[in-house]
Amino acid sequence: MTDRSTPQLFDMSGHVAVVTGGGRGIGAGIARSFAEAGAAVVVAARRTDEIERVASDLRQGGASAIAVPTDVTDDDAVEALAQRAVDEFGSLTDWVNNAGGSPMRMPLMELPRDEWDRTLALNLTAVYIGCMAAARHMTTGSIINISSGAGSGPVPGSAHYGASKAGTNSLTWTLSAELAPEIRVNGVAPGAIPTEVMLTALGRDESQLDELLADWNIPLGRLGTPQDIGAACLYLASDAASWVSGEILRVGGGAKAR
Ligand code: NAD
Repeated sequence: MTDRSTPQLFDMSGHVAVVTGGGRGIGAGIARSFAEAGAAVVVAARRTDEIERVASDLRQGGASAIAVPTDVTDDDAVEALAQRAVDEFGSLTDWVNNAGGSPMRMPLMELPRDEWDRTLALNLTAVYIGCMAAARHMTTGSIINISSGAGSGPVPGSAHYGASKAGTNSLTWTLSAELAPEIRVNGVAPGAIPTEVMLTALGRDESQLDELLADWNIPLGRLGTPQDIGAACLYLASDAASWVSGEILRVGGGAKAR
């Protein structure tokens, strides 16, 4: 890093980014932040209507964007996604493993065995698949894995989800060492962001956001937004973070006093 200005450090022109789970929620926020900073964006998730809508919005805003229907638990589909990004835009420089979540919250002793397997497949094995495909197609760039506060402490009712996110943190740390210096690997651990999967997991709806805010006692006094996470990912993907790898950045409205 030399004499570049701060806007130049955050400029994503020339970047080509894949964002998984980009059809709604946090992933859509990350895709938008990258696109607004100048990146070409490949929006990937299973639901074609959702990713087409996000990609179309980004194009209307002046960005280059395509939608590629992908199940992130399918190795071949993820490999094809990486290849499609290169074929369409000439290279691949950024990959965000964002698709994930768990709609179930219950004590581990009551959790159905298949929900454990499903959660690990989506939140850990699919992140491994994404990291491998990204690394095979990148010569230089950055991978960001979306984690959760549940991966670094006890969250009753979320043992399955927390275990998968703790695994993702470990994958992030070790891959950052193995892929350096060409590829940086970081994580972002969002706090409470009222998206579809989060509200389903808590058995709440949009009309109960004030109650949620009161329950969570967030120091900065509001729930998070997809844009909060998009901005954090933008920092990590951009040259502003060219000396940052192997970190899990918590973006969650402040640390609670003990
Ligand atoms: P969301 O349900 O709103 O969006 C999830 C996205 O992932 C959707 O686009 C969905 O289609 C996609 N997806 C799910 N399964 C997929 C699959 N097999 N293949 C491809 N795409 C798939 O959820 P969100 O709240 O935006 O969550 C995004 C990420 O943030 C997840 O990894 C989640 O664990 C994490 N997170 C969310 C919160 C929160 O409060 N919302 C907090 C911490 C971490």
